[in-house]
Amino acid sequence: RNGEPDRIVVIGGGISGLSSAFYLLREAKRRGRDVRVTIVEAMDRVGGKINTLRRDGFVIERGPDSFLARKKPIIDLAMDLGIEQQLTGTNPAAKKTYILHRRKLHPMPQGLVLGIPTEIAPFAKTGLLSFGAKMRAMLDFVMPARAAEGDESLGSFLSRRLGPEVMERVAEPLLAGIYAGDLSKLSLQATFPQFGAAERKHGSLIRGMRANRGKTPAIAANASELPSSARTPFLTFKGGLATMVGELERALTGYEVEFRLGTKVEGIEKVEDGAKGQEQGAYRVMLDGGVTIEADGVVITTPAFHAASLLEPYVKVDAIRAVNYVSVANVVMAFDKASLGGYQFDGSGFVIPRSEGTTITACTWTSSKWLHSSPDDKVLLRCYVGRAGDEAVVDLPDAQLKEAVRADVRSIMGITAEPLFTEITRLHHSMPQYPVGHLERTAQLRAEMAKALPGVWVTGAAFDGVGLPDCIRQGKQAAVSLLDGLEG
Ligand code: FAD
Repeated sequence: RNGEPDRIVVIGGGISGLSSAFYLLREAKRRGRDVRVTIVEAMDRVGGKINTLRRDGFVIERGPDSFLARKKPIIDLAMDLGIEQQLTGTNPAAKKTYILHRRKLHPMPQGLVLGIPTEIAPFAKTGLLSFGAKMRAMLDFVMPARAAEGDESLGSFLSRRLGPEVMERVAEPLLAGIYAGDLSKLSLQATFPQFGAAERKHGSLIRGMRANRGKTPAIAANASELPSSARTPFLTFKGGLATMVGELERALTGYEVEFRLGTKVEGIEKVEDGAKGQEQGAYRVMLDGGVTIEADGVVITTPAFHAASLLEPYVKVDAIRAVNYVSVANVVMAFDKASLGGYQFDGSGFVIPRSEGTTITACTWTSSKWLHSSPDDKVLLRCYVGRAGDEAVVDLPDAQLKEAVRADVRSIMGITAEPLFTEITRLHHSMPQYPVGHLERTAQLRAEMAKALPGVWVTGAAFDGVGLPDCIRQGKQAAVSLLDGLEG
């Protein structure tokens, strides 16, 4: 704009919004372009789902607790922020994960990759499955690949290849943790495209996953410069994930980003005669309280249901309206180790198939999985409730929710001790469910937006991956595309 800086508004200050802004400013600087960024965030803090509580020597995650070390974008970001030395991995002595079956904890058979067996002997021996189910899974070796092209549900794919029992008792509880979803409604292509690719390439899911095992390193190539404790498949920061949020905030403040916290965006107005070189931007972003800000570019990173209402006046938003969100909660309990009768936390916790009928869906033995999370003489447990089809539990009053969770912990682990404290976090409409056909529909939306709303990008967990590294990758892509667009 006649030598004036480009004005960009980022809507939403979660990891997607913060990383979009960070890469926008870094990339603009590299290109010698002057860009001013305003981040508008409805809450009075940034971080979105990331929410670390430090209490009495504990590091408690109320939202996400870690990320996959094999995903490069988040390790790149840690390095770009200079905080890679604060990364830490899981306790090497807590590798086991358990699955509940008929009220007993069974170790997850060795060789399971994302719930798919890749080693036959441990799978054949597990007490989790009937003999018939194990035989049924072996049909995967001989059953032809699906002829039809296109997407299908994760549930139909898994039960077709491995049989319903393997899907319900093993794959579902392990995979559902990521989406809290109903596998029969989730898109295979948008969630685990590698499963479909394994079937197509190897004619068998098990064979394909086995062939890929050595090929996908558990730790990204750029992780070689990390501390030795950070060479495990899952990583976090010693001070919790809020470390990354805090550093992003600091870096953005250094770039003179304007933060408008506690402010909701209510609409985006396209200014028909708005053009570069003029006082008014191409867009006007309307905030609550009647304030508006002029913008040459906008990055929307809110959950899909908010993004849909912002975009609806200009494009068809079926793609994002189709993404349902599931509500979940977690109940964190701290104990004195001495009060637990020597219970052996020899793993990272357990997951629970729906058929078990418990209130909790999983339990992380946080103090065993993450040694930095608790003082040595204490134990921290994190229990999860709520999943697709079972969300009412999230809104139980605190006392009732605590009691239901403690009843499960008592019956599964025999723990009757009174917790030192309990922290409940409810995350309403927090887990996006990518429906069958999601990728195709979002590609159409993007194409339509490029025509109707040049300079407006929509990104975040509702699109191409819910994990933190995926949000960062998408945020970076949005930043680069927006700058390319501004440069014409
Ligand atoms: P959000 O964090 O939701 O940020 C969006 C922001 O937009 C929010 O701050 C919101 O307040 C703001 N906003 C909304 N509407 C408006 C508006 N109109 N105006 C202004 N601001 C607005 N991922 C992992 O990699 N590892 C994990 O261990 C993991 N565990 C998870 C556990 C739970 C319980 C949940 C819910 C998710 C978990 N995830 C995990 C997923 C990951 O945390 C999220 O996908 C990611 O944090 C989403 O980031 P985001 O910036 O896209 O969205």
